[in-house]
Amino acid sequence: MNGTNAGGAAVSRETHANGHGRRLIVLSNRAPIRLVHEHGRERIEPTVGGVGSTFLRLLEHNGGVWVAWSGGPKTPTRLLLPGDAPRFALVFASLSERDISNYYYGMCNRGLWPLMHYMISNCHFSAAFWNQYQNVNRTFADLAAAEALPDDQVWVQDFHLALVPKMLRERRPGLPIGIFWHVPFPPEQLFRILPWRGELLTGMLGADLIGFHTHAYVNHFLDCCERIMGISVDRDAGEVIVDGRRVRVGAFPLGIPADYFAGLAGSERVQERTERIRRALRSPVVVLGVDRLDYTKGIIERLAGFERFLENNPAYHRRVTLVLIAVPSRTKVADYVLLKRQLDEQVGRVVGRFSSEGWVPIRYLYTQFNAEELVSYYQAADIALLTPLRDGMNLVAKEFVASHLKDDAVLILSEFAGAAEELTEALLVNPYDSDALARRIRQAIEMDPAEKASRLRALRAKINANDLQYWSARFLNALGESAFAPRESFAGASGR
Ligand code: UDP
Repeated sequence: MNGTNAGGAAVSRETHANGHGRRLIVLSNRAPIRLVHEHGRERIEPTVGGVGSTFLRLLEHNGGVWVAWSGGPKTPTRLLLPGDAPRFALVFASLSERDISNYYYGMCNRGLWPLMHYMISNCHFSAAFWNQYQNVNRTFADLAAAEALPDDQVWVQDFHLALVPKMLRERRPGLPIGIFWHVPFPPEQLFRILPWRGELLTGMLGADLIGFHTHAYVNHFLDCCERIMGISVDRDAGEVIVDGRRVRVGAFPLGIPADYFAGLAGSERVQERTERIRRALRSPVVVLGVDRLDYTKGIIERLAGFERFLENNPAYHRRVTLVLIAVPSRTKVADYVLLKRQLDEQVGRVVGRFSSEGWVPIRYLYTQFNAEELVSYYQAADIALLTPLRDGMNLVAKEFVASHLKDDAVLILSEFAGAAEELTEALLVNPYDSDALARRIRQAIEMDPAEKASRLRALRAKINANDLQYWSARFLNALGESAFAPRESFAGASGR
C-alpha cells in the first residue's frame, strides 16, 4: 500500500461512501502501519494480520477516516490510502513527548493496563498521567469531530480512548458511536481503586454501544455502572439508561482471520520451515508458548509448571522440549524490565538443572516473528501451553488451532483467558497451580489421537464460525441497530 501526503479538502469527497455502507470513523491509539522513509520519500507499510487488517479492509470498502497516533513524536498529519486510488484518510494525532510519557507509558501502560487485568499491585496512578490522558482523548475527539460527516458511524478502539465517546458526543451529538474494549474489564471491587473511576465510566457511556470479549466482562462493567454510578441497568436487554439515553452493552468475542492462517499453514514454504524447525529441535514432543513478554501472560508460572512436570516425570526427560517465544514489549517500563530479568534467570536455572548431553529442555527465543514464521512454529508444536494470568482474549490460542490442519495437536489454555469462555474443548487450567499445569502437560502428551482430533475439530469449527470478519460485522450491525432501531430489536447480552 502506498500513501501520499495530501491536504484535507479533497478527503471528504474522495473518502465518501460509495454505496457499500456507511462511512466509518475509526479511532485507535495506533494504526497497523509503519512509516518507512526511503530515498527521501515516505512510504507506508501495513503491519500484517491482526485486528488492524480488518479496519483497513472496512475503510477501503466503505470509505472514511482512521484517527491514530503514529507511534512517535514527529508525524505527518494526514495520508490518503491507498495512494493510487484513495478510499480513506489516515489522520495522525500528534502527541508531544509529555503526552507519550504520561498518557501512553503512564496512564495506559502503568495505570489502566494492570487495572484492567486485575493486577492492582502493578498499578501506578498519578494526576499528571490522568491529565495527559484526558488531553490526548480530547485531541482524538476533536480530530474525529472535525472529520466526521453527518451519516458516518464511529468505532473507538480500546482502553486508551475511554473518554472519547462522551467527548465526541458533546461535539457531535448525532453520530452513532461504538467502543470496543480489547482488554478484560475487572470486577467492580477492583475497578473501584481507580481514582477517576466515575469519569472513566462516564466517558465510555457516551457511546451507543459498548463491546467486550466475554459475558463476564460485560457483567463486571454493568456491576460498575450500577454500584459505582448508581445508574439503572437492564441485564436481560444488556442496556444501561444514562440521562434518558440508551447505551447497549454486549459480548462480541474477537475472532481471527481463520482462512488466512489455514492458507499459510497449508503453503509449501511454511511446511518446509516447519520441518526444519522440527528437525533442529530433535525432540519427540514439542510444547510451545508464545506471548508478548508481559506480566499478565503467566510466563513465569508456565515455567514453574513445566519445571514441576520435569520433576514429576523423569521418564519424559530428553523426550519433551518447551519452545518459549517471548516478544519484546514495553521495554521502557520498569515492571517489564524486571520481568525480563526474572525470566532470563528462571530459564537459566531450569535449563541448568535438567539439561543433559544432547538435550536442552527449553528453547528460549526473545524475538518477534512474522506471521509465516509464527505459523511454522505453531505447526511444529504438538502442544500449545498458553497460561495467561488474565487476558482479554488470547488470539494466539485461536491461531494455533487454525494452523493445525491435521487435527493432531492439543491446546492447553488458562481458564483466565477470554478465549476460554469459547474454547471449552481446550484443556483448561489454572496457571497459578503448578501441579495442575504439570498434570495437563502429561495429559496432553498421552492423549490418544482420536480425542486430540475431536477436540481440535470442535475448536476449529468455533474459530471458523466466529472469525474476524464476522466479529466486525456483528459489532457494526449492532451499532447500526443501537442508533436507530427500537429497543426491542436487540437481543442483548445478559451474560447468564
Ligand atoms: N505475534 C506475532 N509475532 C510473534 C508473536 C505473536 O505477530 O512473534 C502476534 C500473534 O500472531 C497474535 C498477537 O501477536 O496475533 C498476539 O495477540 P494476543 O491476543 O495473543 O496477545 P496480545 O499481545 O494482544 O496481548
